[in-house]
Amino acid sequence: MIDHLSFSRRQLLGGMAVATGTSLLPGAYAHAATRAASSSATASASASEQPQRFCIRNATVLTMEPGQTAMENTDVWVVDGRIEAVGQGLAAEGAESIDGRGCIVMPGLVDTHNHMWQTQMRGMFAQREGALFFPLTNRLAEHFRPEDTWVGEYLAAMENVSAGITTSNDFFDNNRNPEHSAAALEALAHSPLRARLLLGNESKTAKNGIDLERLRELNRGWEGHSENGRLSLGLAWRLPEDLDDLEAMAMKRREYDTARELELPIAVHVSGEAHHAMFARLVEGEFLHPSVQVVHATDARGEHLDALNAAGASVALTPITEHRVAYGLTRLSHFAAVERLGLGIDGNALAGSADMFAVMRTAALTEIAASGDQTAVDCQALLALATSRAAESIGLGDQIGTLTPGKQADVIMLDTRALNLGMLPSDPAALLVFAATPANVSLVAVQGRIAKRDGHMVGLDSDELQARVTDSLDHLRQYLA
Ligand SMILES: [Zn+2]
Repeated sequence: MIDHLSFSRRQLLGGMAVATGTSLLPGAYAHAATRAASSSATASASASEQPQRFCIRNATVLTMEPGQTAMENTDVWVVDGRIEAVGQGLAAEGAESIDGRGCIVMPGLVDTHNHMWQTQMRGMFAQREGALFFPLTNRLAEHFRPEDTWVGEYLAAMENVSAGITTSNDFFDNNRNPEHSAAALEALAHSPLRARLLLGNESKTAKNGIDLERLRELNRGWEGHSENGRLSLGLAWRLPEDLDDLEAMAMKRREYDTARELELPIAVHVSGEAHHAMFARLVEGEFLHPSVQVVHATDARGEHLDALNAAGASVALTPITEHRVAYGLTRLSHFAAVERLGLGIDGNALAGSADMFAVMRTAALTEIAASGDQTAVDCQALLALATSRAAESIGLGDQIGTLTPGKQADVIMLDTRALNLGMLPSDPAALLVFAATPANVSLVAVQGRIAKRDGHMVGLDSDELQARVTDSLDHLRQYLA
């Protein structure tokens, strides 16, 4: 229980009163100093909001179903959190009508790899010694309090949703103690984001193992955390820094085995100087499995990618951060044969922002420049790596990733009348990849609940959030020098 992160009933009610009738978020946040109510009130608040019924009318719709191209003057009808129908002139009785003219409607973007806890450190990083990402993050991570974790997670969640990302696979590798994982979960529960919390160890450099009892405990009681299936659990796993350290390897295998026993998804980084040896260890140790996601693997050997495919494992590519920390050039063509593949942000702080359009653009431009071929990139295929294929790569393809009747209504709308877009395009996919920004996302729904409307986050109290961010930064800056 982390009472200092809780919201009082008064704050909840007060927040909802000032928000619109469609709010799914409390409009007020308890300040870190507030130590009053139990956290149970907060969980019920977000869960008790009813899904909405609405129909977006006359939009240009990209369902992202295989082989389906853009559909003009098309309606998307949402009932009780699911896609009811996609088509022209839908009756949609009892549904609120939303004007989609001049807009592109598509599935919410799926961020297959993130580290959301560190978001408020964004302004501390720079491309010079003393301000580089890894040493600074490793130094400050140990000074994170539960409320700092809350702030990082919540900031990222709200930024993601505002940017059209409706799902994030969150590699939580600053899991210092149960209060931190509770804070992360509470932040995610209070955001509208669909997320998987991958529980890791206490820091990237920690020699200690992951708190497997905590993982088991959370898994046992997951129904109380899942927010109607919006949140899920997994393992943020790492290979030991020294692959020849038998004791460390045995510990890592216990962690892996526990996740497999609990049937939880596993994510593992393959990156840095030893990345070929790391991938080899995953293959030799028979760690590859459909529940396993390999992150980065920037210039993985063909035989390793073949083994990954054969085992049914997946890959997450995060071109912006891979370039920023000089892992190498992320070439889409290098991963052309990988069956389960998705794109990700990899930390809003390191990526600069939660901009999946920029992630797609970076992947496209890198491939075009490196190949010398302007036709080397298929924008529709790139879009799939941020929606349908991304969802499939993290094991959620049956729930999200396309606008298909029966699936979860994770839907976004972009207004093409913005200055940087200008007009309804003949090729929406190319416009989205090369021109769109998060600012163009005018509406976002997750599980059918509208979280952003007319370009504004519903129920977000920016002043309260800023106060918590400032408090967290004041705390963390003490350890900068
Ligand atoms: Zn990562």
